Amino acid sequence: MHHSASAKIPALILGLALGCAGQPSPAAGAELNGDAIPTSQGDLIIHPINHATFAMAWNTNTIYVDPVGGAQRFAGLPRPNLILVTDIHGDHLNPETLAAVAGPTTRIVAPAAVAEKLPDPLRAQTTVLANGQTRSLLDITIQAIPMYNLTADRLRFHTKGRGNGYVLTLGGARVYISGDTEDIPEMRTLKNIDVAFLCMNLPYTMDVQQAAAAVRAFRPKIVYPYHYRGSDLQKFKRLVGDDAGVQVRLRDWY
Ligand code: ZN
Repeated sequence: MHHSASAKIPALILGLALGCAGQPSPAAGAELNGDAIPTSQGDLIIHPINHATFAMAWNTNTIYVDPVGGAQRFAGLPRPNLILVTDIHGDHLNPETLAAVAGPTTRIVAPAAVAEKLPDPLRAQTTVLANGQTRSLLDITIQAIPMYNLTADRLRFHTKGRGNGYVLTLGGARVYISGDTEDIPEMRTLKNIDVAFLCMNLPYTMDVQQAAAAVRAFRPKIVYPYHYRGSDLQKFKRLVGDDAGVQVRLRDWY
């Protein structure tokens, strides 16, 4: 799949044309393989790693999301320019792994509750965002989106205001990373999302019915279930259906 970096091809069309994944990009992120999503500044490469942890490459930048599990897991991947951390739990934040993968110039974006748990050198390179705040770093606009539980017996897992989901805008493409959340209004009312990473697992986040209903409300062009351990992804895909203009991409995150 070759196209000029400046060509603006709707993500849905190219996504459908790509069909299967796994081709290394000839453009940005040469060292990171995975699905290629077109943007106005070259392809965005999607590279699942494990559970909530993944990497993306775009326009000379490498982005890690919730890097945990030890440095060995990231061996062979390009060092990140940007790291996003969503929450304090061990499947999202591991200070030792962060210290190992972050270079001295790597920018970290995290909520205050995460920044408080970082050793001084890492905290010094961290931009703290509260829910609703937006910052631009490395030509990427980063908006912090709330993430929290709604169901009474799950409220203890994720308190509103502590963690961040994120919407990234990169070369005109908008990428939503849910973090650990249920189908909150702030998710359901998102607009113009090209790619969404959506959590689904009980008891910590939401079930596949909630996740599918939310997807049918905000209609991302592409959705990747992630953070889905134990969930029935075929059921999720069936519930999202074919009529909403949403492409469900099932990848192996474990
Ligand atoms: Zn989690």
